[in-house]
Amino acid sequence: MSRFTPKETYRKISDISLEYLKNDCNIKGLIFDFDGTLQLKWKISKSTFEFIKEAKESGLKVAVVSNNIHINDFLLRKMNIISIKKFALKPFKKPLLDMARRMKLKPEQIAFVGNNRFTDIYGSNRAGMYSIYIQNNINGFFHRRKTQGSLEEKGINKIDD
Ligand SMILES: [Mg+2]
Repeated sequence: MSRFTPKETYRKISDISLEYLKNDCNIKGLIFDFDGTLQLKWKISKSTFEFIKEAKESGLKVAVVSNNIHINDFLLRKMNIISIKKFALKPFKKPLLDMARRMKLKPEQIAFVGNNRFTDIYGSNRAGMYSIYIQNNINGFFHRRKTQGSLEEKGINKIDD
């Protein structure tokens, strides 16, 4: 299995089975990527919000590790989610292992959920976490660069994603 291969793949967060993660994989915590995973088009969907609420109520610890320093703090505070956001530099293992320590969990007790095969899946596989890929065609950096490039050719220099 390649290090870019996730353990599970879904279209959206609410398709993940909390029961399976908890009962069959011994998962005790979830770490989410932010852009394109938790947040799509500048907002967190109701189904994602409900999923996180349910995860927390079922006793899972929930955190965010993003490479973007401009994540929505207000929303994370409101949802009571801890985060590392200052240049996390995924796919390096360190920010993920630091967060695992902060959550008082072992890497293998954590499922990492992200939409980028390189920063999120490769990164969390290297850190020894259970990787879950959200395949929604919003692939962060590379997608943005690709889209941005083609827009710039048309004379448009900024996109919202
Ligand atoms: Mg992302």
